[in-house]
Amino acid sequence: MGINKEKYQELITELNGKATLVAVSKTKPVEDILELYNLGHRDFGENYVQELTQKQEQLPKDIRWHFIGHLQSNKVKYIAPFVHLIHGVDSNNLLKEINKQAAKNSRVIDCLLQVYIAKEETKFGLDEMELHELLQVTAINELTNILINGFMGMASFSDNTNLVRNEFRYLRSLFDKYAEPQTSPALVGIKPQTTNLKLQTLSMGMSADYKIALEEGSNMVRIGSLLFGSR
Ligand SMILES: *Cc1c(COP(=O)(O)O)cnc(C)c1O
Repeated sequence: MGINKEKYQELITELNGKATLVAVSKTKPVEDILELYNLGHRDFGENYVQELTQKQEQLPKDIRWHFIGHLQSNKVKYIAPFVHLIHGVDSNNLLKEINKQAAKNSRVIDCLLQVYIAKEETKFGLDEMELHELLQVTAINELTNILINGFMGMASFSDNTNLVRNEFRYLRSLFDKYAEPQTSPALVGIKPQTTNLKLQTLSMGMSADYKIALEEGSNMVRIGSLLFGSR
C-alpha cells in the first residue's frame, strides 16, 4: 500500500512539463490518491463510473478527473457534472449523449476520440475510416457542449518495442493530419472553422510504454501501476 513517491518525482522531472501526467488510480483507495494529492498532484484517471463517482464525492473538489474507460451512454449522466476529460469516445451516439448531459449541466465537456491502434489485440476505438467518418458526419459544430480536444490510443501489450513504437507513430500521424484543419487535405469537406474540434491532446502511454509514447509525441500519459503499485 501507499504510493511510490520517488517514482512520482522522477516522472515529474522526466515529463518536464511537456506531457500531462494522469495518475491512474483505479482500484486504489482514496488514501493513496490523497497522498499524491498532498504532493500537489491534481490529474487522476478512473475507468469505472461507479468507482469514479464514489471517489469524487469523498475527495477534494479541485481534482481533475479523467475518465479513461469504456463509457456506456446510459452512464454519462453520472459523471457529466464534474468530469474534466473523457478519453475513450468512440461513437457518434456517445458524443451526442455527452453533449446532451453537458448541456444539462451548463458546461462544455472535453473529449478525446479513442483510436484503435493495437494490431495484436482487440481493443476499443475507431479505425481510421471510422474516425474520418465521425469527423465528417457528426455535424460536430451542432454539438456546442463538447470540445473534441484530441485523440487517445492504447498500443499492443507487447515486448516488441518496434511494434509499440509503430502503433504510437501511426496515431501521431493521424493526429497531425487532423490537427491543422486549414492545411490538411484530409479535411476537405470538414469545416475548418468548427470551433469544437481543437486537437491539442495526444493521450498515449502507460506504465510499460510511456517512454516510447513520449518519444513519439505524446503529450499526456496515463500511468497507474508505476505510481500506485500493481493491481
Ligand atoms: C489501467 C489503465 C492505464 C494505466 O495502466 P498502468 O499499466 O497501470 O500504467 C492507462 N490507460 C488505461 C485506458 C487504463 O485502463
